[in-house]
Amino acid sequence: MTGTVTEEKTARLRKLLEDARHAAVVTHTRPDGDAVGSSSAMAYWLCRNARTDVRVIIPNAMPGFLGFICGECCPGRVIQFDTDPDGALEWIGGCDLIICLDASGFDRMESMKEALKASGARKVLIDHHIDPSESDFDLVFSETEISSTCELLFWILLSMEGAEDASGIPMPVLRALLAGMTTDTNNFANSVFPGTFEMASMMLAAGVDRDGILSELYNRCRENRLRMTGYVLKDKLRVLPNGAAYIVVRSGELAEYDIREGEMEGIVNMPLTLDSVRLSIFLREDDGYFRVSIRSKRGTSAFRLASGYFHGGGHEQASGGRLYFPGDIPDASHAEAFLERITGEFLETEK
Ligand code: 5GP
Ligand code: MN
Repeated sequence: MTGTVTEEKTARLRKLLEDARHAAVVTHTRPDGDAVGSSSAMAYWLCRNARTDVRVIIPNAMPGFLGFICGECCPGRVIQFDTDPDGALEWIGGCDLIICLDASGFDRMESMKEALKASGARKVLIDHHIDPSESDFDLVFSETEISSTCELLFWILLSMEGAEDASGIPMPVLRALLAGMTTDTNNFANSVFPGTFEMASMMLAAGVDRDGILSELYNRCRENRLRMTGYVLKDKLRVLPNGAAYIVVRSGELAEYDIREGEMEGIVNMPLTLDSVRLSIFLREDDGYFRVSIRSKRGTSAFRLASGYFHGGGHEQASGGRLYFPGDIPDASHAEAFLERITGEFLETEK
């Protein structure tokens, strides 16, 4: 359990859910397992109220391997903004409740953010990132000392239910929450707190098939992804004497290996296995910018690097952001030189 989940707040949430007729569940751009797990679970929970209709609205595509979660919780209720902006805006325009999950605020919702901010609906934030935009919301559940938004939502649902154990929560919700917690902790490797094991233990006791979920998440990759991982580690990884390591992947390389959304996930963690490395940066070229993933060992702040140099944020040891070109660097070919310079400068200040 966690300090942000108070009886007073869960009572307010229960009332908001009861009153909702058209709800929008929204989450961050390039949704990951925690985003998809928490929003799918929330959508299922909302639909238990026969008077509530709900859509999960995501800014853009989710990785294919997460599709099973929506399939179990909210089939036919997901709207993707970049492919169906009219549908998404129409739903947002008519909704009376917006629940924002796994994002520190609407700023991480790409072009949906204006409509969300302008909406007169009641707004709830459930999140675990540093520095949430609390003023945009009527009700905020925010906790950083927790594994994931999925874990936070688990404790919220349990306390709304007044339940001692997880058996009062429907199985699709439990599965979605366990899946999201698993991916956000990198299968119990990072950001694990006592409550995280407690949640997992309660889920297993309630009969959740963890092996089946692990299989969906980790054992259904395409060969390209593994080949690309090999290529990147062999030819693209740079390990600097200053304690940083980086990988820059260009669009042409992604195309050559036919890499799809989500298929580079996890690679950023690998350089941290080296004794000499305390900061790992992964850059992946997108349209006019690089998507940046950062991981650090304790004592070095990925969050400060992301917020100071990459317009981003996240968590102390796992953060992300963007590197724009032109803007931050003249063009994409300057990324390596930029990283060499700023990692030296940054790590000096982190000593
Ligand atoms: P990942 O490297 O797995 O994409 O992201 C690591 C963490 O950083 C996640 O918690 C994610 O939400 C956060 N993050 C990733 N990209 C951005 C960004 O552009 N802005 C902010 N504020 N956070 C980000
Ligand atoms: Mn998360």
